[in-house]
Amino acid sequence: MQENIIIAGSETQSHRDSLAVSTWQQQLSHAIRDPQALCQRLGLSREWLPGAKLGHELFEVCVPEAYLSRIAYADINDPLLRQVIPLGEEALTPAGYVVDPLEEAQHRPAKGLIHKYAGRVLLIASPNCAINCRYCFRRHFPYSDNSPSRAQWQEALDYLRNDTTIHEAILSGGDPLAANDRQLAWLVEQLESIPHLKRLRIHTRLPVVIPDRIDDALIHWLSTTRLQKVVVLHINHANEIDQTVVEACARLTQAGATLLNQSVLLRRVNDSVSALAALSERLFEAGILPYYLHVLDPVQGAAHFDVPDSEARELVTQLRDHLPGFLMPRLVREIPGKGSKTPL
Ligand SMILES: *Cc1c(COP(=O)(O)O)cnc(C)c1O
Ligand code: SF4
Repeated sequence: MQENIIIAGSETQSHRDSLAVSTWQQQLSHAIRDPQALCQRLGLSREWLPGAKLGHELFEVCVPEAYLSRIAYADINDPLLRQVIPLGEEALTPAGYVVDPLEEAQHRPAKGLIHKYAGRVLLIASPNCAINCRYCFRRHFPYSDNSPSRAQWQEALDYLRNDTTIHEAILSGGDPLAANDRQLAWLVEQLESIPHLKRLRIHTRLPVVIPDRIDDALIHWLSTTRLQKVVVLHINHANEIDQTVVEACARLTQAGATLLNQSVLLRRVNDSVSALAALSERLFEAGILPYYLHVLDPVQGAAHFDVPDSEARELVTQLRDHLPGFLMPRLVREIPGKGSKTPL
């Protein structure tokens, strides 16, 4: 976007004001989607541009201003920047890094539905995200096949109705909150009419990426459903939680949701005891409990984020010396074919 190039440099007050009055959809449509604009906006030196362009060709850049405003200026080592800037390393193809590391394609009994674990299913409620995280295991996901329309949801809903062992529907994506509230309210209404469903879980990064997503329309359908609600946020670093995120989380809690967090252990983002301890402390200040700390899924293009298992275990062992038990995330890996996440 032109305006994002012009504001290269420090964030201006007028820009902040314009953020406050625009809807989440407007903020999303103004997200930076060009590697050069991203480098300019953040004052990065030219040396990063060729790599950014190469990575962008493999998985396009997408970063909204609300997230950018928490990134330090001209600092290639900023832990939030590392999550969103494409690097030349993404073109590497080391052995073992694949396109569908979780082999989810085999667990789709209906369009938009993934049933791998007992008692709970994933519904792909939106193919889109509000940000493109470079380490994302869905960076090669065939979304066009998996974003059902209202009529196409019937097959998934019938599957849920017919399997009384399923108690929890997990809205996933992409990012489920990238769907509009009319669609989401409709889907939740369908789900709550299934008697054996008890819980609605929403896995989302949107309250962190664009906190204004937690608006009145969302709070309305969330607070009125009979289902018990769990929102699993996706936050990897304490700096991602500013006051706007704290306020969005407070609204979710007031709407009756239990807030949990899952992180991915990422090289040069959160691969230290101090970063992980600060994250847990900051999460709790925002009313969120740490849930999972995932090791990286071996997705092609993300190998430079990898932290070896031995190091991951050592970090978590040391973390225990710094945190109360209830602020300790569970270190896990997703292994295709297993009936749950696997503790390391
Ligand atoms: C991670 C995941 C879940 C949820 O697992 P929990 O351990 O309950 O958080 C459900 N279905 C799929 C396909 C998953 O990948
Ligand atoms: S928000 Fe989640 S699903 Fe979307 S790109 Fe980031 S990690 Fe992937």
